[in-house]
Amino acid sequence: MMELLLASNNDHKHAEFVRLFPGVRIVRPREIGVDFDFAEDGASFLANAFGKARALQEIAHRPVIGDDSGLCVAALGGGPGVRSSRYGSDGTRKLETPERNALLLSRLRGAADRRAFFVCCLVLAMEDERFIAVQETVHGEIADSPRGANGFGYDPLFLLPDRGLTIAELPEAEKDLVSHRGRAARRLRAMLDGMP
Ligand code: IMP
Repeated sequence: MMELLLASNNDHKHAEFVRLFPGVRIVRPREIGVDFDFAEDGASFLANAFGKARALQEIAHRPVIGDDSGLCVAALGGGPGVRSSRYGSDGTRKLETPERNALLLSRLRGAADRRAFFVCCLVLAMEDERFIAVQETVHGEIADSPRGANGFGYDPLFLLPDRGLTIAELPEAEKDLVSHRGRAARRLRAMLDGMP
């Protein structure tokens, strides 16, 4: 079975990658005894995803998937964007997800323009100087209040207008069909499968 090392110890993300890459064993750094922590301070999703993938591939000498994702809100000038996981942080501690979601809703109170999109960049670093990069989005709107218990992060706030549901109200398999990470993973998989 093909193995890909995931440059993240985030359990939610790991679970999504396991679903998104059937037939591939998705391994976390701690499973191979590597203590991997990467400062996500790049100016773009690509810089962070590439940086993570490359750094871990150089340590582990095996194919690594690096991922960076986030939420871009039109009324916030595209923010929090690459700072999505640190949104509202004063630098000493990250906010818990409910606090972060409440902060986002408070900043959008009364805003007529609620358009937003999720971004997912995936970089597969195969070996030195060989990599594949893909980046995908899913467009929607920020709901007036959190809804749904599935998924993670900003999912309870992210409304898919044509469905009338937030991503957190969708079953996992349906999230994977529409999500930024699902779209990016399918493109990456297609490229991998097409490689000689
Ligand atoms: P990172 O990719 O680990 O930097 O995380 C980016 C941030 O965006 C995290 O705090 C997540 O909560 C949020 N995020 C990324 N993808 C998703 C998603 O699929 N649903 C909800 N939140 C997400």
